[in-house]
Amino acid sequence: MSSVEEFRAEIRGWLAANLTGSFAGLRGRGGPGREHEAFAERLGWERHMAASGWTCVGWPEAYGGRGASIEQQVAFHEEYALADAPARVNHIGEQLLGPTLVAFGTPAQRARFLPPIVAVEELWCQGYSEPDAGSDLANVRTRAERDGADWVVTGQKIWTSLAHEAQWCFVVARTEPGSSRHRGLSYLLVPLDGPGVEIRPIAQLTGTSEFNEVFFDGARTRAEHIVGAPGDGWRVAMATLGFERGVSTLGQQVGFRRELESLIALARRNGAADDPLIRDRLARAWTGLETIRCNALRMLDGVAAGAPGPEASIGKIFWATWHRELGELAMSVLGAGGLAAAGAPYELDDWQRLFLFSRSDTIYAGSNEIQRNIIAERVLGLPKEIRP
Ligand SMILES: Cc1cc2nc3c(=O)[nH]c(=O)nc-3n(C[C@H](O)[C@H](O)[C@H](O)COP(=O)(O)OP(=O)(O)OC[C@H]3O[C@@H](n4cnc5c(N)ncnc54)[C@H](O)[C@@H]3O)c2cc1C
Repeated sequence: MSSVEEFRAEIRGWLAANLTGSFAGLRGRGGPGREHEAFAERLGWERHMAASGWTCVGWPEAYGGRGASIEQQVAFHEEYALADAPARVNHIGEQLLGPTLVAFGTPAQRARFLPPIVAVEELWCQGYSEPDAGSDLANVRTRAERDGADWVVTGQKIWTSLAHEAQWCFVVARTEPGSSRHRGLSYLLVPLDGPGVEIRPIAQLTGTSEFNEVFFDGARTRAEHIVGAPGDGWRVAMATLGFERGVSTLGQQVGFRRELESLIALARRNGAADDPLIRDRLARAWTGLETIRCNALRMLDGVAAGAPGPEASIGKIFWATWHRELGELAMSVLGAGGLAAAGAPYELDDWQRLFLFSRSDTIYAGSNEIQRNIIAERVLGLPKEIRP
């Protein structure tokens, strides 16, 4: 057996043996549009995983990971999704901040921040977007100034996923007054439990709130909690985004396949499958899923080689659009009944939630338009976009 097959068998066996008893009811809980579900119990589950060494498997062993190869990490995410295990609560710490600290952090930062991520004792959120800095992230206005042994942070972040559950936020802030665009930015690690931090959940189309506005009004963090040099935050922030498009995408497809299969089953049950146009769309969805898998495998080649290239943009546009269309197809399969909320006052069923939440797939992690700009400029060599 190859080391990948052994690794796959090990995690499969562990999940089968452990996703039982009080954890059994967590299968399928949480995830996009449903992060509020059983959060405390999912936190407990993730700590249980940590106790057996199943968090941060792709990190180097020196930092508490298993040093798993890319193929082993893919196997881990696939098996996790196949077991229908609950959505992870600290993926931002594990997949974004941790690798960033391994690459750019000081030994003291790694010693302070990595162990609580591995143990799931500290949860993280990502403080990049602002009301006028989303696609155009270089427009960040949040500022931070040195005051003795601290940085003092003032400004507003928005769409900050899971900030209401997190203890820490990595914040892109302007530390050189008068600087513009990507110069003069720094990457700060800011505690959310101190004075001067206010977190306001945003009500979403789904009726749930998983992202937030985060207001910093003189919030403090220690001077040494800066990753990279002052003014060099853009480089660090971009590296974090690179880690975002990683190995978990093949696991994501296991979830997509499960959604499509249960939609096909629903269409058979309620007769929608007799409609030739629905049949056509279901068949297209199935072929689209195969294309997503090929795209992801191509992207993983890039990850293995050090950095995914334009295939990451192609893959992102394709899966995001596919998933959004799956939500629309689900509404067509449901027919008129799908228009009424499943329960009062605004309780959605899985299909309604999929339809509404998947509208965001083509926005976060780089919108479709931004991905097309990247392809236009970097692959087709078209002239750069004119900026005001
Ligand atoms: C579910 C979800 C979770 C998120 N979580 C986080 C998080 O945890 N932390 C965080 O920092 N951010 C988060 N975001 C924010 C996300 O990164 C931004 O929504 C995204 O970058 C787009 O920015 P914006 O919303 O300001 O839209 P804008 O940038 O204002 O864009 C509005 C529209 O204009 C288009 N557009 C913008 N610029 C161009 C251009 N140059 N050419 C062509 N079209 C353009 C966009 O594609 C979009 O359709 C999250 C968003 C979502 C939906």
